[in-house]
This record gives sequence, structure tokens and C-alpha cells, in this order.
Amino acid sequence: MIQRPYDVIVIGLGAMGSAALFHLARRGCTVLGLERFNIPHDRGSSHGITRIIRLAYYEHPSYVPLLRRAYELWDELERSAGIPLRYTTGSIDAGPAASAVVEGSLQSCQEHDLPHEVLTSTELTERFPGYWLPNEFVAVLQPQGGFLLPELCISYHVIGAQGAGAEVHAREQVLEWEPSPRGVVVTTERGVYEAEKLIVSAGAWMGKLVPPLSGLAVPERQVLAWMQPLRPDLFRPERFPVFNLVVEEGRYYGFPVFGIPGFKVGRYHHRDEVVDPDTMDWACHPEDERLLRAFTDRYFPAAAGPTTAMHACMFTNTPDKHFVLDMLPSLPQVIVASPCSGHGFKFASVVGEILADLATDGTTRHDISLHRLGRFVGGG
Ligand SMILES: Cc1cc2nc3c(=O)[nH]c(=O)nc-3n(C[C@H](O)[C@H](O)[C@H](O)COP(=O)(O)OP(=O)(O)OC[C@H]3O[C@@H](n4cnc5c(N)ncnc54)[C@H](O)[C@@H]3O)c2cc1C
Repeated sequence: MIQRPYDVIVIGLGAMGSAALFHLARRGCTVLGLERFNIPHDRGSSHGITRIIRLAYYEHPSYVPLLRRAYELWDELERSAGIPLRYTTGSIDAGPAASAVVEGSLQSCQEHDLPHEVLTSTELTERFPGYWLPNEFVAVLQPQGGFLLPELCISYHVIGAQGAGAEVHAREQVLEWEPSPRGVVVTTERGVYEAEKLIVSAGAWMGKLVPPLSGLAVPERQVLAWMQPLRPDLFRPERFPVFNLVVEEGRYYGFPVFGIPGFKVGRYHHRDEVVDPDTMDWACHPEDERLLRAFTDRYFPAAAGPTTAMHACMFTNTPDKHFVLDMLPSLPQVIVASPCSGHGFKFASVVGEILADLATDGTTRHDISLHRLGRFVGGG
């Protein structure tokens, strides 16, 4: 039976959906948020205690204006939450001078006039002795980088949305949706709901819920490891900036000790395992640990003590690693959001604003041209 109609239904209350729900509810829309698991949970893309946020953006300079707004919105959320959601450590982008990480990071700093320093490998180790990189490496230090607390960011977006009148159904899986004369009808395992607009922000399940996206939003298994530092003083947040590092073994990222007793490290596209989110292997295996330990032994030897924790997680990758943020060309009442490719969390606050704009106005003042569907499917 169809319940009362809503202005907007949001499918998936992870990073992006929780933020969209928050912005819509604050604008006075009647909204329903549907989440299949707990809020928050550890079976998607947004768990693991910390996520890097940084302004220097080697992926493309056009992310920087979005990031400036994301910072403002995270700070607003933090003020309303009354507890810290973001920590500043500085961010390091490092590798060979000619690498895309170093060149791209510098380009974004120069184009957007971001404060930054360029350090040699020796200078980096003098400043932050936890780092032990090859002599010829270069590091870009951007002082506003740091990390967010993803589970709390999601919770406080949902708490804020609830406070503004949003209806939230956790532990209720959406089975299907279809267009209707009024907008969309959404069927879950518990009910049938109707709304004028639908936002699908289902993370690794995007392709299952929106079949045209199945080849454009591809889930991939990731693994994170935490290791007990041998020199704990070097890996405290005030002495160890978060990093993105390209080495001959691949591209890695890492964090100081926070929340879990260990230096945290991950490799982008860990073992290149494309997965089905419903059957993914969530266990962490010795070969996962070996890969992350070999990196830590070589480049952060003072962090390479016993492993204290490991977690699996999912990236959802687009072919060009930029996001998908758009209305479906044939169904403009349906807005799709897949901002992952391993770097989306930091944007969730501004993505929530963009999704709310698209749902209420059909357009947004933010430049999302890099993230339109038309680049893949035409007509978007
Ligand atoms: C290991 C790892 C490290 C990362 N590090 C960083 C980082 O340092 N910095 C950064 O900016 N980004 C990082 N990312 C990327 C970032 O975490 C993702 O971009 C972000 O979490 C994606 O958010 P999302 O809302 O799309 O997905 P999610 O947060 O997973 O939310 C999707 C939600 O949809 C729900 N859902 C799915 N199907 C249904 C259904 N049928 N019915 C109801 N609900 C449904 C899911 O349960 C889930 O809660 C990392 C990702 C991983 C995996």
C-alpha cells in the first residue's frame, strides 16, 4: 500500500545520502531516507574511523572550489554536532617530482592560490620523522589537510535531518523503484512509497539499483590495515600529516594513529578485485596484510610494528575516476550520485547540497561539469 507521498526519497544513507537528506530536510522538504543496514554500518564504503580531507587536489584542479565549500559545510555540521568531526594534520602528496600526484597537487595549489610548501625527502623526514621516502622524492605539504570521522559525519547528518523533520527508515532494503505519474514509486521489503523526486545514493549497489550505471559504477574490494608504531611519538596527529604517496609498488594513503591503536594504511585498488557487493569477501587475509606491511616496512619503518586491526571496504569506480552526479537523462526526477572512485568522502557535505539543489531546482550553482553522466552515455 502506498503511504503518504514525499517530496523526495533518498535511497542509501551512507556518506552522500545522509548529507542529501540533511540539506533537503533543512530546506523544508518532506523527505524519506531508506537504508538497508544500520546507521552507520561497516558493510559499504564509509567505515574505518578516518577519511582524508585535503585541498591540494592532484586528481583535477576543478575539485578545489567544491572542497572549499565542503570545508565550510563540515565546519557548520561540526558546530551543530558540538563534537569534533574534522582534524587538521596537514596533507602530504609525495612521489617522484614528475609523478601525477606531485605535479597535479602543485598545479591545484598554484591555480587556486593554496598555501603550500615543497619539501625534499630529507626535509620531509626532518620535519616529520615518521616518513622515510627515497632521496629523490618530493613532497607537497598543504597545511589545511587532515581527516574526517566518517561514521560520526554520517550520524550527525542523519541526526540533523531528523531534527528538521526527515523520516528515516534504517534496516529497510529497497527492492525496486519505478517511474509513476507523480514521480517515482519505491518498493522496499516493508512498504511502498511515492515521491516527486528520487535520489539514489546507494554506493557499491548503484549499478544494481540503476542498471544503466552498472558498467559505470564498478565495486572493488579494498583493505585497510592498522599497525602499532615502534615509535608512537612520531605517529601522533600533531606530528604526522595524512598522505597520498606514489611509489613503484603503487599509490598508497595513510593516517596518524587515531581511534584504533595503529598507523593506518591502504593501497588504492588494493589487489584490483572487482566484486559483487552482495557476495564480497569481507574477511582480511595474510596476502592482504603482506601487501600493506611490505609498503610500511619500506617507507614508514618506525610504524611497522604488529598489526592491530584490518578492515575490508568497497570503492565504487567510474571509468575516469571522477564522480557521477546528475539526473537520469530519460527520467529527470531521478538523481544519481556515485562520488567514490576512492576519494569521495571529503566531498559528502557539498555533494549533499548539490543533490538537494538538483532535487529542488533541477540545477546547482556548483560546477559539476566534470561529473555529468553525458560524458559516458550522451544526452546527460
Ligand atoms: C578503504 C577506503 C578508503 C577511503 N579513503 C578515502 C579518503 O581518505 N578520503 C575520501 O575522501 N574518500 C575516501 N574513500 C572514498 C569514500 O569513502 C567514498 O567515496 C564514500 O564513502 C562513498 O559514499 P556513498 O554514500 O557513495 O556510499 P556509502 O557510504 O557506502 O553509502 C551507500 C549506502 O547505500 C545503502 N544501500 C545500498 N543499497 C541499498 C538498498 N537497496 N536499500 C537501502 N539502502 C541501500 C548502503 O547500505 C550504504 O549505506 C575511501 C573508501 C574506501 C572504501
